[in-house]
Amino acid sequence: MATNEAAVLGVTEKAARLTAEMEGMDTPELMRAVIEDLFPGRIALVSSFGADSAVLLHMVAQIDKATPVLFIDTRVLFEETLAYRDKLVAYLDLEKVIAIGPKPAMLAAEDPENFLWASDPNRCCEIRKVMPLAEALEGYDAWITGRKRFQAQTRGSLALFETEAGRVKVNPLAHWPAAKIIDYLDAFALPRHPLVAKNYLSISCIPCTSPVKPGEDPRAGRWRGSGKVECGLHTLPLYAGADI
Ligand code: SF4
Repeated sequence: MATNEAAVLGVTEKAARLTAEMEGMDTPELMRAVIEDLFPGRIALVSSFGADSAVLLHMVAQIDKATPVLFIDTRVLFEETLAYRDKLVAYLDLEKVIAIGPKPAMLAAEDPENFLWASDPNRCCEIRKVMPLAEALEGYDAWITGRKRFQAQTRGSLALFETEAGRVKVNPLAHWPAAKIIDYLDAFALPRHPLVAKNYLSISCIPCTSPVKPGEDPRAGRWRGSGKVECGLHTLPLYAGADI
């Protein structure tokens, strides 16, 4: 077995073991364990500063305000999202929010009119989201996402710990129902993303985000009518620099 293959296999076994060990653990306790004990200095929270993001950002702020938080600014985000990010960073006193995004030269070459989302949304997500995140995650052993099972059928069996490109991916809210998110936000009086009041329940780039109708999955407003359901951050191997 090649060394790299063995390393990936080792990480996969580690994720399965952690899921078995930590299933049922109180979420703030789990967050403290991954940040302080399992991956000290080697883990980042990836946050969209979207509809539910304040929950994990608040937990991080209680544990260590200097925990790296990676924010992907695709350059086509809502002004409300950028303002909400600034508001939450100040409110929670987060010390290490790192904005990442597409390379200007790549945008100039492939999407000078900001219209690639219409003709090739997969490539648009690759150059605006996947590739910047892959590069930013170099140097980390693990990252934390805010994905939840209730968000969409495609996330219905989401595990607490996964592996991707040789890293552990932690989904601390995987098992949280929507009501628990609301309860947490209310309990700590956390500011809400202003677009939630307009029925945007999953918020990303302007061209690919729309309000959700009653009874729809929270992510139904993403890429509406296109058949696309994920941006690639969670479906493609994140190899930094690779032209994926
Ligand atoms: S969500 Fe839409 S605009 Fe944003 S990167 Fe993906 S395809 Fe492009």
